Amino acid sequence: MEKVSKRIEERAPLTTEATPASHRHEAPYEIREFVCARCGNCCRGEGIVRVTPVEAQAIAQFLGLSLEEFTARYTRDAEAAADRDKGVRWLLDKPGPLQECIFLEDNLCRIHPVKPHRCRTFPLEWRTPDILDYCVGMQS
Ligand code: SF4
Ligand code: SF4
Repeated sequence: MEKVSKRIEERAPLTTEATPASHRHEAPYEIREFVCARCGNCCRGEGIVRVTPVEAQAIAQFLGLSLEEFTARYTRDAEAAADRDKGVRWLLDKPGPLQECIFLEDNLCRIHPVKPHRCRTFPLEWRTPDILDYCVGMQS
């Protein structure tokens, strides 16, 4: 993942050639690209990963499993009724205190090409309020 961070873009308008000279000012911060440090911290700890029926089918196919096998092996019932009503399931965590996603391996996502929307859009489209505490890419 390597894109310009929306988090930074949202802060203030940039100085551009299209801006009248009388209104130009120096941006009081440095504009940088977000570079994922592959720390894996967004894939462990508290939180859930939702999988829609369409995503589940894609992941099952990627893993060479039937939908039923994938569902039984890697997901659990959603605790939220709104998710259950849409057929959304939640990914399992690995056992242990770190609460790692079942698909996290060596800090990388085992299903990266087909990972759920929630994972693909982090941290540029959504993030948790405490992201600076754990996302190494945001810290640097
Ligand atoms: S599916 Fe992949 S990207 Fe999403 S939480 Fe699990 S390991 Fe991380
Ligand atoms: S927490 Fe941030 S730096 Fe670490 S893997 Fe996730 S997006 Fe990348």
